Formats: sequence, structure tokens, C-alpha cells
Amino acid sequence: MNASILVVEDNLDNMKLITWLLEDAGYSFVTANSAEDALALVTTKSFDLILMDISLPGMNGMEATQQVHAIPRLANVPIIAVTAHAASGEAEKILASGVSALVTKPIDEDELYRTIRACLGGEPCNGQSTHR
Ligand code: MN
Repeated sequence: MNASILVVEDNLDNMKLITWLLEDAGYSFVTANSAEDALALVTTKSFDLILMDISLPGMNGMEATQQVHAIPRLANVPIIAVTAHAASGEAEKILASGVSALVTKPIDEDELYRTIRACLGGEPCNGQSTHR
């Protein structure tokens, strides 16, 4: 698994957990603590997948998702929202921003791995979403 993943997360504990899980599975990754940092990174680096926290200090993860997908080179990069905002109305709003899937916090490692594998494999990786 040589996929390169961009992890956007402002919470240190969540970031530690996510990067530990990615490391354990052999994925390469780069981290960003804000949407702004993530958008700066994607202008110069290529990623196969993005894990996107939704609540971020400046721009939120939904706006960031739209901005990433507005870059032609990244129009189809799968983005997985990772969020505690699991209320049903909120989930639909997040999916409508263009993410391929939504993983809820607290993070279940099997769910995270399964979703990453599906998204990287080009499969629909969330039943509620339109895969892009
Ligand atoms: Mn956050």
C-alpha cells in the first residue's frame, strides 16, 4: 500500500491516532492542521486520498473539500470526512459538499481502514454518497 494520504486535523489527539493507524497499515501520509495548510500543500503535492476533519479553526472541512475539488488536477481525489458531527441532517450537508464518505468520531479503526481501502479502490465508499 503505497498510497499517499493527506490528513487534515486540528486536534492533536485525533491526529496522533489517525497517523498511528495509517503508519500501522503502511500508508504514506502528510499532515495539515488547518484547511489553509492543506490547500497550500495540494498545490505542490499529489495525494491519492484526503482525510478531512470538518471542524477546523479557519475554513471548515466542507469548504476545503469544495476548494480542493475545484482544482482540475484534484477534481476526482477521494475525500473522507472524519467528524463528530454525526447528526443526520449534518451528515447530509457534509456529504453534499462532495466528500466520498464520512467516518464518525470516535474513530473505529476497522471502519476507517475499510473506508480508505474502498475509496482507494475506486469503489463507492459510502452508501449515502455519490461516488466521484
Ligand atoms: Mn477539528
